[in-house]
Amino acid sequence: MSNRAHNFCAGPAALPASVLQRAQGEMLDWQQRGVSVMEMSHRHQSFMDLVGQAEANLRQLLKIPDNYKVIFMQGGATAQFSLLPMNLLAGKAQADYIDTGIWSTKAIKAMAPYGRANIIGSSKQQNYLSVPQQSDLQIDPDSAYVHYCPNETIGGLAFDFVPETGDVPLVADMSSVILSEPVDVSQFGMIYAGAQKNIGPAGITLLIVRDDLLGKARFDTPGVFNYQQQWQNDSMLNTPPTFSWYLAALVFEWLLEQGGLANIGAINRAKAAALYAAIDSSSLYVNNVNKANRSLMNVTFTLADEALNSLFLQQAEANCLLNLKGHRSVGGMRASIYNAVPMASVEALIGFMQDFEHQHWS
Ligand SMILES: *Cc1c(COP(=O)(O)O)cnc(C)c1O
Repeated sequence: MSNRAHNFCAGPAALPASVLQRAQGEMLDWQQRGVSVMEMSHRHQSFMDLVGQAEANLRQLLKIPDNYKVIFMQGGATAQFSLLPMNLLAGKAQADYIDTGIWSTKAIKAMAPYGRANIIGSSKQQNYLSVPQQSDLQIDPDSAYVHYCPNETIGGLAFDFVPETGDVPLVADMSSVILSEPVDVSQFGMIYAGAQKNIGPAGITLLIVRDDLLGKARFDTPGVFNYQQQWQNDSMLNTPPTFSWYLAALVFEWLLEQGGLANIGAINRAKAAALYAAIDSSSLYVNNVNKANRSLMNVTFTLADEALNSLFLQQAEANCLLNLKGHRSVGGMRASIYNAVPMASVEALIGFMQDFEHQHWS
């Protein structure tokens, strides 16, 4: 594995090397069946057993209460921006949205054909460097749900609290933060996450839905996009992305082997703390996000002299430190340090950043 690069890609992101090795070993002959897992029926008992165990492991990792259903769909988190109002508006005219950056804005825009997105809090005026406070949030009891993005992947901005929304169900786009630390699922009406940051490869989307929110879809919601119908069909209303599901199952096993989310969360906090400390102690690298709202998963930073950006990226790549370029909409740098990125990669990045600063700046 010495030729594995340090991969800071925001998504599709790094997968644990041991998971990839296991998939490699099982590629031609899964469970002594003489075929790979992606060359067999999704209704075969052995595949059904695989996904049953995957759900049990996920439930154990996140301590998902029994009254929450686990559903897998396609279309990524972006599809969910539209499927959410289709499934949850339930005849209401509006839902509440919190605006903290690019992903929450996309969710707000996608709401337009279905109803009114009532923006109950926004940090746009603060350039998305902080999040609205609980006391700022004016939750409307006539709203079908409250939507927010606990971790804005592009801005590197994270909530340091779970909004209290009373009787209005809270819906969270956890695409870039799911499984990175323990969460109390019972605080949410629904959680969704595209897989390609912290779950597995692209192509599958996880939904965790409180059961009283099922069965409220608009009449014109296609069956494959209907939460209740997918749940009733074991997320197999049509052919699911079997290989992505299989790899997600291997990642859940790997997370349990790492000691579960409490352990993973402690490692993630240590990784982020080391990287932010390196940024804060330097005069070249800058992160202006309010300290309490700094993302543990997506560490953004700019260089005090932007003219050094391309040299930084070029030399980083030459040192096997990949995908550090910030999102095209915001520029700068971003190091995504999801579960599968080990502390050793963070240390290699810090060492490189310090060397680069000594050579080209101070
Ligand atoms: C990556 C990401 C998305 C988009 O995911 P797709 O699978 O490309 O649709 C949405 N929300 C957040 C928070 C993300 O990080």
